[in-house]
Amino acid sequence: MRSLTEVFLELPEARPSLLDLKIEILDRILEDCHCCERRCRINRKAGEKGFCRLTDLSRYSSEFLHMGEEPELVPSHTIFFSGCVFACVYCQNWEISTCPDCGVPIEPVALAKIIDARRREGAKNVNFVTPTPHPHTVLRVVRELSENTPVIWNSNMYHSREVGGLLEGVVDVYLADFKYGNDECARKYSKVKIYLEVMHENFKFACGTGEILLRHLVLPGHLECCTGPVVEWVAEHIPEVRFNLMFQYRPCYRALEYPEIGRGLTSEEQMRAIEIVREAGLEDLLV
Ligand code: SF4
Repeated sequence: MRSLTEVFLELPEARPSLLDLKIEILDRILEDCHCCERRCRINRKAGEKGFCRLTDLSRYSSEFLHMGEEPELVPSHTIFFSGCVFACVYCQNWEISTCPDCGVPIEPVALAKIIDARRREGAKNVNFVTPTPHPHTVLRVVRELSENTPVIWNSNMYHSREVGGLLEGVVDVYLADFKYGNDECARKYSKVKIYLEVMHENFKFACGTGEILLRHLVLPGHLECCTGPVVEWVAEHIPEVRFNLMFQYRPCYRALEYPEIGRGLTSEEQMRAIEIVREAGLEDLLV
């Protein structure tokens, strides 16, 4: 008897496909940009630029097999996009995130060939880093893939709800930052508004459509205002996610302009953060 895969491969290719339709919708979203919840409402296809200073051309700064991600993901074929919709004052990748015109312009067919080759080399997945302003490019690249490769959306989760809906069925794993436990810290350190509302909506929606590996970077002096409330919300609303408490914070980029975060974490802060997660009953994974 023939396998289901053999039967599937014999089916005529549907055109336009659902993916084609999603790409068409994303192109329209770009013309009145609301890829993220900043909703700049400018026409990136006409070369206009909003907060992220990106047109519709996406670039990547590097691609490689990453061995330092969470254990179940490695080797992970990591592709770093240029530009970002956040402006984190402590960004470790600020040279890339603040330079939307840096890097290699993405041609979907060419990048898909690289991803296929990495998959054959042993990559467990393709890991799109900082994809929030680039969903149109991610889907175009995915459309050109020949190998069956799980897709990771490695993101700040600030995409618009419209984009969130279009990612359903395309993204397998959300490697998702939940940085702040209140809007004031989000505004101060990342120039972001309505942070909690967007996080709550996007995390709940993503939870029903893919797997979530949630990352929380512990900030010095922010256990009570950020770590505690993030953990509490996750434990109450999406306790099934993998919760990754991260202690990699270093005062990079402009962090020294903010004395309260101009230092590394103390060992007491690290211990306390672990305690908060364990007290809430979440499964934590330290990397
Ligand atoms: S991606 Fe976000 S920040 Fe960039 S132009 Fe669109 S709405 Fe604005």
